[in-house]
Amino acid sequence: MYDLNYHRATSIDDAVAKRAAASDGQFLAGGQTLLPTMKHHLAAPSDLIDLRGIADLSGVKVSDKRVTIGAMTTHAAVAGNAELAKACPALTVLAGGIGDPAVRHQGTIGGSIATNDPAADYPAGLLALGATIHTDKRAIAADEFFTGLFSTALEDGEIITSISFEAPAQCGYAKFPNPASRYAMTGVFAARGADGKVRVAVTGAGADGVFRHQGLEDALSADWSASAVDGVAVSADGLMSDIHCDAAYRANLIKTMARRAVAAA
Ligand SMILES: Cc1cc2nc3c(=O)[nH]c(=O)nc-3n(C[C@H](O)[C@H](O)[C@H](O)COP(=O)(O)OP(=O)(O)OC[C@H]3O[C@@H](n4cnc5c(N)ncnc54)[C@H](O)[C@@H]3O)c2cc1C
Repeated sequence: MYDLNYHRATSIDDAVAKRAAASDGQFLAGGQTLLPTMKHHLAAPSDLIDLRGIADLSGVKVSDKRVTIGAMTTHAAVAGNAELAKACPALTVLAGGIGDPAVRHQGTIGGSIATNDPAADYPAGLLALGATIHTDKRAIAADEFFTGLFSTALEDGEIITSISFEAPAQCGYAKFPNPASRYAMTGVFAARGADGKVRVAVTGAGADGVFRHQGLEDALSADWSASAVDGVAVSADGLMSDIHCDAAYRANLIKTMARRAVAAA
């Protein structure tokens, strides 16, 4: 490690002001991505602005069907929330399958989506749920938020404050985890709205990060059953090939995970 300035922010305004005053500052949430990145000398911020002291940023609220999750809510808190388990069980399943207990008790939903790792779980969940990402400046639809590999619509110094969405009528999530890290080699989240329309988002597979799959959405909107996935053509074009598996294998995983997600719903 190297010398840097550490700040503990007391409010959202304080965090934004401290970040603006730093020459090359970064917000610190659970540190599960940022600290390893710094240890490997892939990031060297001048200042860390720790968000963990801001109580307003944590917690899950479920009011009728409206769900709001504070950006600093840990994966373990999402996984263990009983009201959310009733309103949107697949999101608690998703959070409970992230990494290991240490990662789940430190890592946060805001940190996860700000990073937008192409194999992270939350981007698929929030994209399929048609969630809104709230920041200190504006509200951003998930469809516009995830812009590519490790990139988002966030501007420099913009802070995610919460995530909200309308709980769907039914939803399910299934992932094929990397046996070492538990990141998704492929994960599929399927959500069926009250109007019968289905949104399907895929993580871990796309060369440009998380994406929606039109063919699966059309088939499942017409027939919400695991067998409806059988007739959908999933192309390997645009999918990742890496040391874990090639694009054709991931194309097959998308169909298998989609069937499992619908069956779980
Ligand atoms: C061993 C291991 C296994 C893992 N397995 C999985 C897995 O299976 N699935 C999965 O999805 N993830 C996995 N992760 C990643 C984990 O979910 C992290 O929690 C997440 O990527 C980052 O969240 P964090 O709260 O730790 O953010 P940090 O590491 O603190 O921050 C990450 C980045 O986000 C920015 N940031 C943080 N909060 C905000 C905010 N509110 N507004 C704006 N910017 C912000 C920071 O400035 C930084 O640039 C794993 C991590 C590890 C170490």
